[in-house]
Formats: sequence, structure tokens, C-alpha cells
Amino acid sequence: MRRNRNVKILATLGPASNTRESIEKLFRAGADVFRINMSHTKHELLRELVGHVRAIEADTGRPIGILADLQGPKLRIGTFPGGPIMLVVGQRFTLHLNPVTGDQTQVQLPHKEILSALQPGARLLLDDGRISLMVDEATPEHAVTTVEIGGKLSDRKGVNVPDTQLPIPALTEKDRADLAAAVEADVDWIALSFVQTPADVAEAKKLVMGRAGVMAKIEKPQALDHLDAIMEIADGIMIARGDLGVELPLEDVPGRQKQINRAARKAGKPVVVATQMLESMITAPAPTRAEVSDVATAVFEGADAVMLSAESAAGAWPVEAVATMNKVAERVEGEPFYRSIVEAQRAEPEPTAADAITAAAHQIAENLNVAAIVTYTASGATAIRASRERPNVPILALSPVLKTARRLAIGWGLHCVVVEEATELEGMVDQACKIAYREGFAKPGQRVIVICGVPLGTPGATNMLRVALVGRAID
Ligand code: PEP
Repeated sequence: MRRNRNVKILATLGPASNTRESIEKLFRAGADVFRINMSHTKHELLRELVGHVRAIEADTGRPIGILADLQGPKLRIGTFPGGPIMLVVGQRFTLHLNPVTGDQTQVQLPHKEILSALQPGARLLLDDGRISLMVDEATPEHAVTTVEIGGKLSDRKGVNVPDTQLPIPALTEKDRADLAAAVEADVDWIALSFVQTPADVAEAKKLVMGRAGVMAKIEKPQALDHLDAIMEIADGIMIARGDLGVELPLEDVPGRQKQINRAARKAGKPVVVATQMLESMITAPAPTRAEVSDVATAVFEGADAVMLSAESAAGAWPVEAVATMNKVAERVEGEPFYRSIVEAQRAEPEPTAADAITAAAHQIAENLNVAAIVTYTASGATAIRASRERPNVPILALSPVLKTARRLAIGWGLHCVVVEEATELEGMVDQACKIAYREGFAKPGQRVIVICGVPLGTPGATNMLRVALVGRAID
């Protein structure tokens, strides 16, 4: 079973899709990686979901990725015992560290780290940015604000502080427990919410200890200030447009999406475009034209993956949402100008043997019209660099390590196959040709390019490129 597209599809699991049967339908419709949102998933359910995905993987023989998305520090106001209030533009509203009775003039904000960091002139956004307060006066105990954008406000609404770097780590106690459970359950990726600095990512990497990839969700302006350093340390990047669109003016989000996507492609880190891609499909069986165009934009940008959130987790049409993404991606990648647009953002090879070899493979693939590039990769590094090239032919990533194959499922253009460990080159090249044929990527008489590190199994030693002929009597 192979996909006919380079871009990958992430589907979030949730009440609409948590059964083994539903997950299999999503997989067959095109989902390559499943996202488990730890904001809404208890550890027992996490283990059950991982079990379902692994059973489907065993049945279909296709490595499938699983990403556990940590909640991060969710900041919330207190309650209004008298019911929701209505904030009016220009009125004063005070937030107190200590418990106060929430009313028209005040509410509790039980986060000392916010109150201690606020400065006059900073904004506080409430309820997904629907309400905006300007800070007039701030002490560690309270903040006096003026309402800039008013509206209805009710209990425990979320708080965003776009102008203020908060002295809080991205990992809460809950996140640490969730991370441990997710790694224990053998997920392939851990996504880290509300990253502000490279140190946040370093902290998560220290806890994960290489047992999963660590994906930094970019959703705070502070992260944009450290984008290159975050990119260097993270294994992958998510453009989390939901919170990004609260913390930044909405009209800034498309530009930031391009910026992050390009930076990730340059760094060779898988990048996922997330949130509201097919939002209307939560309730309708067909998307809007604008949503189709949004998915198409991400595909044209050469993003590694596009993501569904509530559409597949809690919507009425989860399978249709995946099938729609699949159809749009296939069509866009078949457009005559797709190649030239993706190619325009091609990242130059870095001065390493791996990049020299993968760049050469890309060029030879074009010159010789080969059927596929086959990488033999234990850690996944060679396959990721080959994917960074965004070549015009599919990339088969053969790995003796199941964990590597699963993690690579997120990467642009990578078709992963688990193989026996190879010890000698000729046998491996032979196996590469056979698998390219068996998986439907090459016909007898066609050529493939094989790249690997010799001696085989030496991590980070990509140093060999071979043009191999797929034999006529292959079967
Ligand atoms: C987002 O904010 O876009 C996002 C993906 O994060 P979450 O849905 O986990 O809040």
C-alpha cells in the first residue's frame, strides 16, 4: 500500500475516531500519523489508542507514526459566581492573584508568573483573543487594566499574554507525567506546546532521551524571536496557527507560516501546518473553497505534513476530512507548476557528505529519469536529508529499525519500509531494487538510486550513491 503524494497527513484522534475501526478507516483514507492530544486524553486511553494503531500497523505492514501533543501551561482566569459578565470598551477591570469574587470589575488570575512579568502597556487576551485588556498598572498581586475589546466573559476562560515573555517553562507537572506515559507507550513524536525559548525544547529532549522525536509547536511570538535556535535543537516543528492567531494579529499568520515553513525546510526539520485546515468539515461533509485553498497553499509550500484537529477528533465527518485532504494534496502535487514552486524554496546543500550525496541523488534522478531514490537508514538522518532535497521522485526509506520507520512517516516524500539488517552492500542494493519493485515504485528495467553509509549500519556516515537497475526476473 502506497500513497500517491509527498505531503503527509496527520489526523488527531478523539471521541469521533477513538475506536480501532475508525482509526483504520482514517488510515485507509490517507492518515500517515495519528496525533493524540494530551489535553483531553488520560493515560489509559493513550495506551489503548497506541495499541489500536500498532495493531493496524501489524495488519497492513505499513509503519505508522504516533504523535503525543502535550498541553503545556494553560493559563486561565477564575470564576464569576453571579454568572457571565459583559465587559465594555474603556472600563477598568482588575485581575487579582488572590481569590476574589469575580464580577463586573474584577476576577482572579491565579498565576503569579503572569502578574510578576506584566508591564504597563502590555496586552492580556482572554477567551481565545475575543477580549483584549491593556495593562495600566501591574504589581505581583494585581493588574489594573482598561478594556480595549469588550464582550461576554465567563468562568475559567483562557489567558494569552502576547507581549510578555513569561518566566515559565513549557513543561508543567502534568506535561512531565504525560511525556513519561507517552514515551513509555512508545509513541514516535512528542509535541511541546507554548515553546518560548530553545531551553524549553532542550528540557523536553533531556527527558525524552532520544526515545521519540521532539516537535516544537510555534504558537508564541517569543518563539519567533528564537526561531533558528529552536529549529536547530528541535527534531520537528509545528506551525500551531490556533494560538499563533491569538497571540499575533490574524493577518500576520500567513506570513509567519511562510517564514517558519521556509526556516524548517532550510534546517531539514519536518514541518507540520496545523489548525482549522478543514474546519467547516467538523459539521459539513464538504469543505469550503477557502479551506481547500489553505491546504493547497501548505502543499505548494512543500510542508512535510498537513494536520487535522477537531475535524478528525470530534467532527461528524472524520474520514471524509482525511479523504478530502488526500484528494486535494494529490491534485495539487499533480499540477504542472507544483514542482517549480516547491523547487523555488529548495534549501542549498550544507557542506557535509550526507548533503552532497543527497543533492547528487536529486540531480541524477532528474538527469536519468530514475523511478525512485532508495535510502538505507538506521537513525533516519539520511532519509531526512534526502527529503530536505524535495526531489522529483519518491524516496524509499529502508530501515532495520521499526522506531525509525515510524518516526519518518511524517517526512515529506518518504515511503518507509522495515527491512532485515543489511551487512553487505551488494545484498542491500539487491534488496533495495526488490523492495522498490514490490512496493510499486519501480518496474523491471527501470533504474533507482541507492544511497547509504558504508560500512552499513554506521550512523551518520552517508557516503555512497549507486545507480541500480531493477532486474527483469525480479520476482
Ligand atoms: C494550535 O494552537 O494551533 C495547536 C495546534 O495547539 P492546540 O490545538 O493543542 O492548542
